Amino acid sequence: MSTAFDVIIVGGGAAGIGAARRLAAHGSSALLLEASSRLGGRAYTQDLGGYPLDLGCEWLHSGDRNAWVGIAETSGFPVDRGEPPWSKAHPGITQDQDAQEAAQKAYGEWEERLRTVAASSDRASDALEPGGTWNAYVQAIAGFMSGVAPEQISAADYLAYDDASTGRNWHLPLGYGTLVAASLPSSTTLRLATPAERIDLTADGVAVTTRAGIVRAGAAIITVSTAVLAGDAIRLPCGVDPWREAAAALPLGRNEKIFLEIGRDAAFEPDSHAYGNLRDPRSAAYSIRPNGWPVIEAFLGGDGARIVEEEGPAAGFAFVSAELASLFGSDVASAIRPLAATSWSRMASIGGAYSCALPGRSHARARLAQPFDDRLFFAGEATHPFDFTTAHGAHDSGERAGDEAVAALGNRYGVGRRGPLAAAGTRAAG
Ligand SMILES: Cc1cc2nc3c(=O)[nH]c(=O)nc-3n(C[C@H](O)[C@H](O)[C@H](O)COP(=O)(O)OP(=O)(O)OC[C@H]3O[C@@H](n4cnc5c(N)ncnc54)[C@H](O)[C@@H]3O)c2cc1C
Repeated sequence: MSTAFDVIIVGGGAAGIGAARRLAAHGSSALLLEASSRLGGRAYTQDLGGYPLDLGCEWLHSGDRNAWVGIAETSGFPVDRGEPPWSKAHPGITQDQDAQEAAQKAYGEWEERLRTVAASSDRASDALEPGGTWNAYVQAIAGFMSGVAPEQISAADYLAYDDASTGRNWHLPLGYGTLVAASLPSSTTLRLATPAERIDLTADGVAVTTRAGIVRAGAAIITVSTAVLAGDAIRLPCGVDPWREAAAALPLGRNEKIFLEIGRDAAFEPDSHAYGNLRDPRSAAYSIRPNGWPVIEAFLGGDGARIVEEEGPAAGFAFVSAELASLFGSDVASAIRPLAATSWSRMASIGGAYSCALPGRSHARARLAQPFDDRLFFAGEATHPFDFTTAHGAHDSGERAGDEAVAALGNRYGVGRRGPLAAAGTRAAG
């Protein structure tokens, strides 16, 4: 089987869909290959217990400059611009208010010290106060943000995201994953359950090998996660090794969610928030009854997420149930029951949560975003200079790669003519 497209997009997450939308706007033909049986990648809304729960991305971070907000509103998806639950602590929790404030202050001071560390070792753990009372809390929050321990975080990278964030966190009641998966343009040819196994350069573009045969195009946009790119699932031309090395310097951290259903009328305040244990670096953040639903969502990062990854979902449920019992009283155990647990780090086609630059390696993002031989273009959250780790950063990186591919094809085939399709004068259906 041989099919000509202007561009082949590898991966149907937010970046791949962003690229497809940009290529469609340029009038370029695109084939999207997706390894799994659904679109969205780390954007995934599942109907659990009748509620559209986001297993991956959930918050429209920097909502006032987030491309998905405009896409949602154009497509008729409601956007909730209200305050996120973490701004409203659940009332009546038996937690020391002074301790909470002291822990938050310690986190703020750690972030400030990151600026000095960024200019020296760049190792975020060097900004921890030696023996600091609230180091466990700082570690847990850094785990939510990056999915790894401060020893593995580049201070410069951490600050680049923070400095660019506008602090507006909006919400999609129908689910972020629902929106992303619904946003592929109808002109894009889609093949689900078709992983790219090998990509070769050809005289006039690229040839991508799949188990269904070889497909050809003028260029390819690769949007797979850094874990996939740094691994050996896709054979790439050997000149691409520096891109693989850049991907390896941007490993995916660990973040998982556990959903619990509130089975009987327990006095949980809707749209509120609780933090498990200020002194445990594995502690979870709890979103209580989001949208008023009888659900509790526990968010785990770093060492906390490792409980789910290494010991399995039952251990994760046991851990968060114990934290909830210590917050709300032992009665709570009979009011909640397990609904679902994610396992992003165990999914071969993803391999973790989101990218975090290793100390001294924050420049790897710009390296990874470079085109290769004007035929391979790289997108995905990890390639964004400051909105990395997010679905809008992924989207924007896809747009950037789409523009680069169209410009390269224009240069190769002459301005105003598109790539192989125009050259072949035909479009074979794959
Ligand atoms: C628990 C969790 C919570 C999060 N919360 C938020 C949040 O609130 N807000 C936010 O903005 N972001 C959040 N994120 C991050 C966000 O989901 C990601 O940054 C974003 O979705 C990544 O998009 P992407 O297109 O770069 O990568 P992906 O979504 O990983 O897409 C890559 C695609 O490539 C596919 N693929 C892999 N190998 C192949 C192959 N060989 N051939 C073809 N296809 C292949 C994969 O199946 C996948 O669909 C969260 C992530 C997690 C895990």
